[in-house]
Amino acid sequence: MVNGMHEALHPSFREPFEVVLQRNKGEREFQQAVFEVMQSLAPIEGRRPEYSQWSVLQRVIEPERQIIFRVPWVDDDGKVHVNRGYRVEFSSVLGPYKGGLRFHPSVNLSIIKFLGFEQVFKNALTGMPIGGGKGGSDFDPKGRSDGEIMRFCQSFMTELHRHLGEYTDVPAGDIGVGGRELGYLFGQYKRITNRYESGVLTGKGLTWGGSQVRTEATGYGAVFFTEQMLRTRGQSMDGKQAVVSGSGNVAIHAIEKIHQLGGKVIACSDSSGYVVDERGIDLELLKEVKEVRRGRLLEYAQIRGNGVRLIEDGSIWDVPCQIALPCATQNELDERDAKQLLTNGLEAIAEGANMPCTTEATALFQSSDCLYGPGKAANAGGVATSALEMQQNASRDSWTFEKTESRLQEIMSSIHESCLETADEYGDPGNYVMGANLAGYIKVANAMVAMGVI
Ligand code: GLU
Repeated sequence: MVNGMHEALHPSFREPFEVVLQRNKGEREFQQAVFEVMQSLAPIEGRRPEYSQWSVLQRVIEPERQIIFRVPWVDDDGKVHVNRGYRVEFSSVLGPYKGGLRFHPSVNLSIIKFLGFEQVFKNALTGMPIGGGKGGSDFDPKGRSDGEIMRFCQSFMTELHRHLGEYTDVPAGDIGVGGRELGYLFGQYKRITNRYESGVLTGKGLTWGGSQVRTEATGYGAVFFTEQMLRTRGQSMDGKQAVVSGSGNVAIHAIEKIHQLGGKVIACSDSSGYVVDERGIDLELLKEVKEVRRGRLLEYAQIRGNGVRLIEDGSIWDVPCQIALPCATQNELDERDAKQLLTNGLEAIAEGANMPCTTEATALFQSSDCLYGPGKAANAGGVATSALEMQQNASRDSWTFEKTESRLQEIMSSIHESCLETADEYGDPGNYVMGANLAGYIKVANAMVAMGVI
């Protein structure tokens, strides 16, 4: 996808993009994420001369700090394993570095950098005082015992702790890192530092500094955002048929909220395939299979019976729906999938995962009549609620579920509004991609100009 990309950019962004390609050779996901943001920046050219005067773009595409470290650990049979750990501290201009940790065998520097880059603008869009970063490891948690997960997390934190702090860098979860892992990570941080520093991690358990709604927030937020988009056309989620890819934390809570709002989710997926359940996904069963047993969707299909099958090959996006929420992982939805969805009458798509649509799929959605909510806006509810967790920790308070959910709803509405207002102001009404990228970029860029060349 790299050849010929320059031509699609405004002439003044071609050179900075060339630097990105040369300096980050082979890092395809990172290059893709930068390209996607740069594509949206053309309308500010000439309107904000101070940005070019102070080389904001040239600075924002280079992470402030990149940390790579060895993570040795011992499995249940006494065998030693070595994984690689990462923390890319991308931007601290709006607050401490903030962003999740991903444990997955596909993790490499390109993936962590693309996620960190996205996080900077997503976090800015929330309006909360948080910078952007991301971390993780190529460790594969699948099939590992609790003891192995604990030892891995302890080893990971033994190195990472020196880079963290509630005013410095505040990780959370992402793929492969949930409540269990965050518990082990926080425990090790507390032990090494001898400090009960609640605000150093978010996504904590509810009895030890966590926030209500944090677990639900990314999925709920993506659905709130979709509902807001639908409302601009006088519609709602009620009565709509939806497909949600994935079956992890984001997907499960997106399905839950769609059902609460009167929609019906008929398909979801995991790495082994996808299930179609015309009666609507049975959420209790899905939670039991994925969260309690940590099993595969095959078990869901077997227990649910009544013609529900696991389809191992093929694409979940072939299932006809009006609403699509890709909530699995990056580049899971390509141009062919986008064409199929549009042919089947798709009305709205919102990205619950980070960069789930390829560049080509995104272009297709944008040229269609379908509502398209990009990840930086649609999945910002998770990190926004992390910021609410930090706020509660700082004031040694804890809010009710209702209060926290209504704050999340307000934040999602204000993100939606700022996307639309920015898209309007810069001459492309209804373009959520441009609105989200520009609104986030302008906040970051203004702070960078104010703070000088640092
Ligand atoms: N990993 C989530 C994201 O992609 C949440 C990060 C956080 O809560 O810090 O936004």
